[in-house]
Amino acid sequence: MPAVTTVRTVADLRSHVAKWRKEGERVALVPTMGALHAGHLSLVTLARGKADRVVVSIFINPIQFGPREDFKTYPRQEASDLDKLAKAGADLVFVPDGAEMYPEGFSTRVKVFDLTDDLCGAARPNHFEGVATVVTKLLLQAGPDLAVFGEKDYQQLLVVRRLVRDLNIPVEIVGAPIVREEDGLALSSRNVYLSPAERKTAPLLYRTISEVAANLAKGEGADAAALAGRFKLEAAGFRIDYVAVRDPETLKPLSGPVKPGTRVLAAAYLGKTRLIDNVAVSAKA
Ligand code: AMP
Repeated sequence: MPAVTTVRTVADLRSHVAKWRKEGERVALVPTMGALHAGHLSLVTLARGKADRVVVSIFINPIQFGPREDFKTYPRQEASDLDKLAKAGADLVFVPDGAEMYPEGFSTRVKVFDLTDDLCGAARPNHFEGVATVVTKLLLQAGPDLAVFGEKDYQQLLVVRRLVRDLNIPVEIVGAPIVREEDGLALSSRNVYLSPAERKTAPLLYRTISEVAANLAKGEGADAAALAGRFKLEAAGFRIDYVAVRDPETLKPLSGPVKPGTRVLAAAYLGKTRLIDNVAVSAKA
């Protein structure tokens, strides 16, 4: 398997993409923070189906981590990531360092209002500002026709859609379904932090929000259903950040009845590890 082409500067990234676009090829971007798993690789596969060329970025973005979060310990495994991307059929991997992305004197932020007030935005101040800033930069640096983001980070996907619309960035944003372990746990680079006992408990997050969604579909009220989910998770040892039932586009609490697509979202800690997950309510039972 030949090694995948890797570039570390914006100039090199642009020259590859410019050549492809000149030849009329459609280019997709898949932004990641590395420590790649099958969830990330599913995004690459989806991108390959929609574009002629797939660029994957690997950048652990310091400005989206809080001061007490895991920026320093976030898993870094570039060599095996590049190997996986070669096998998955990526055409180019962009691996900038901190100085390439945030040179001396960098002083701009992109902030999406409203959508970021709540849920992960409330729990992680400045997180979405960091995400919005780096995603804006990556989209302007690569200039892709489309970019793929996972529904695993549902609020992030909406934030990206909004900033692209608000800033008139000419790119199509494609959402990708959540890839899970056999027991339901959503794949995440942070799952490696879980102790064996925590790993056994972790799938309960998905099982519980799925139950909340099923109860909503049966006609249970949003508050009661969410609260029951919260109690169940707490009883199993999770420390709850939120269990919420929200409109799938605005992320506001429901003003009307539950409809197909209404989203159940949760964030909870097992020990020091923060897990997030979400599911859509399917058709009313
Ligand atoms: P990250 O490296 O965690 O920043 O994730 C990079 C991209 O992969 C984001 O768009 C995530 O939403 C997506 N992603 C992460 N985990 C999964 C998963 N289990 N299934 C689908 N997409 C995922």
